Amino acid sequence: MQGNMHKGKTALVTGSTSGIGLGIARTFAAQGANIVFNGFGDSKEIEALQAKVRDDFGVQTAYHNADMSKPAEIEAMMKFAAERFGGVDILVNNAGIQHVANIEDFPVEKWDAIIAINLSSAFHTTRLALPAMKARNWGRIINIASVHGLVGSAQKSAYVAAKHGIVGFTKVTALETAHTGVTCNAICPGWVLTPLVQKQVDARAAQQHISNDEAKKSLLMEKQPSGEFVTPEQLGELALFLSSDAASQVRGVAWNMDGGWVAQ
Ligand code: NAD
Repeated sequence: MQGNMHKGKTALVTGSTSGIGLGIARTFAAQGANIVFNGFGDSKEIEALQAKVRDDFGVQTAYHNADMSKPAEIEAMMKFAAERFGGVDILVNNAGIQHVANIEDFPVEKWDAIIAINLSSAFHTTRLALPAMKARNWGRIINIASVHGLVGSAQKSAYVAAKHGIVGFTKVTALETAHTGVTCNAICPGWVLTPLVQKQVDARAAQQHISNDEAKKSLLMEKQPSGEFVTPEQLGELALFLSSDAASQVRGVAWNMDGGWVAQ
């Protein structure tokens, strides 16, 4: 859907060089927002995806390569966004990684990285974005949590802890901004077929000696009653709703879009 809902505003989406973040960035660009991209990847490919967003939607884009596990780099990115576009109106905390292992085998450095990237980075971007949002009395903070912010799954201790953490952080941010025009909410996706999940599909196919398609089906059927993946575009539309005026009294929710996962 194309429109002017956010013409002249700036959206910063962490981890937007791929998957869900890219889908959300494109949805906000389609509504006229300038986009600050962030995430890893090949610099030519990142330039190409920015050029496509500029061509498709006539907005301005910028890119910062901050590593979301490093507070000093996050500070540099927020400063860059303020200098380039005069601040961030819509902040989408999306960057995330996964690692799957039993607790006793879980590499300590993976635990630390998941907590830093999937949870602490949102604290840093939020603390740095809030003063200007409060001064303008308008802002939208959208945290991409997960169904794993609401329920657990074996072998995902760090991820589940980080995602439950970000749901809690969302509530506190919403309470501290409740009397202002700034809102904060979380989105909790079920399975979305992005590179993060493709790795888990590949591992399952190899372990169980089944095809890629069979691995996808068995992954879905285990948890997601619809048997279908959620798409980045659908998540973009939910983020857009949370950023709209109609959602100005939606505060501190953790909204799942999960094909029925959490209804079980
Ligand atoms: P993805 O792997 O396609 O994209 C992750 C993005 O984060 C990429 O742009 C990557 O470069 C970036 N990133 C990773 N580490 C980073 C770091 N240290 N600093 C900066 N950027 C970094 O994954 P995705 O599936 O699109 O996941 C996006 C978010 O959605 C994550 O928070 C993930 O936990 C969440 N999520 C995904 C699913 C799913 O099924 N795919 C489900 C629920 C929640």
